[in-house]
Amino acid sequence: MTPAPRVVVLAGGVGGSRFVLGMRTALRERGIDDTAAALTVVVNTGDDLWLSGVRLQPDVDSITYALAGVNDAQRGWGRAGDTERVNEELRAWGAGWPWFTLGDLDLGTHLARTGWLREGLAPSQVLERMAARWDLGARLLPMTDAEVDTVVTVREGDGIRSMHFQEWWTRFRATLEPVRFDNPGISSAVPAPGVLEAIAEADVVLLAPSNPVVSIGPILSVPGIRDALRAGRAPVVGLSPVIGGRVVRGMADVCLAAIGVETSASAVAEHYGSRGADGLLDAWLIAEEDEPLAAAVAGLGIRSLVTPLWMTDAARSAALAEAALVTAGL
Ligand code: GDP
Ligand code: CA
Repeated sequence: MTPAPRVVVLAGGVGGSRFVLGMRTALRERGIDDTAAALTVVVNTGDDLWLSGVRLQPDVDSITYALAGVNDAQRGWGRAGDTERVNEELRAWGAGWPWFTLGDLDLGTHLARTGWLREGLAPSQVLERMAARWDLGARLLPMTDAEVDTVVTVREGDGIRSMHFQEWWTRFRATLEPVRFDNPGISSAVPAPGVLEAIAEADVVLLAPSNPVVSIGPILSVPGIRDALRAGRAPVVGLSPVIGGRVVRGMADVCLAAIGVETSASAVAEHYGSRGADGLLDAWLIAEEDEPLAAAVAGLGIRSLVTPLWMTDAARSAALAEAALVTAGL
């Protein structure tokens, strides 16, 4: 039997969790039982925040809940069957953000996490402890143990103002024109334990079809991660989060516009760049709708592959993950 491939996925929340679920299924379909040994997910923590005294990790929780099968698939975030009693009480106190809902079960997660952080555990140790509750079939690593919450600077009248990414995203639904995204402190952050080792030992590194600016962007901005990808022997294969000139779910197009990248599968490929030209990508998967862009991607020095990119159900997500493995020669 051939050994299981070692797969590393860089991921954000929604697109990230769908893809990671698909990869776990694809590995199982290859007859790999211990998918946790084969699949490492480096998760964006740029969305994290402190609220009402607890630490929230939206992307980490989305992926954990999805792998555990306890996520609210309908709504796209939080726990299935959650209630909001504590949230109502917080509102009555005027605590937290009135436009940001925290479910009761979800708050249990945040309380447990915050307690362990207060006891001195690093975020990566807390995640290890939380992940042990379920048989996730994947190893989850935060991109870094440092707090590097994303700050958005928006245009306001003749001036600018800054706010936490979650306020911009959830309260304002990304309608305030962004000028910049920053992760204060990231230049002195280091990758969480295990991240660089996983990349060095990987047979493939996959950039999930996640938001290139505020999900994959922060991961690549942690000093050392980009260099490790470029220096690693594993091919780097990306999956387009843009299909037919539109982001599939969410408001990633506003983020792309802010950094001067067009919402197209080829522009995002160009943004990541070809490994042969100071960039990252060896290959880039684009949707059938974007076939006409394949030549432009190839022109960047990136191998392009046309494949169905809609992760509308578990089978399609698994087929996409399998296609990514095959693209990497695995
Ligand atoms: P977030 O952290 O919750 O914003 O989620 P991610 O960053 O992981 O993913 C958000 C992006 O995933 C969206 O902006 C879409 O472009 C992309 N996405 C979501 N669903 C799909 C899908 O079914 N197929 C593809 N190709 N991309 C998707
Ligand atoms: Ca996110």
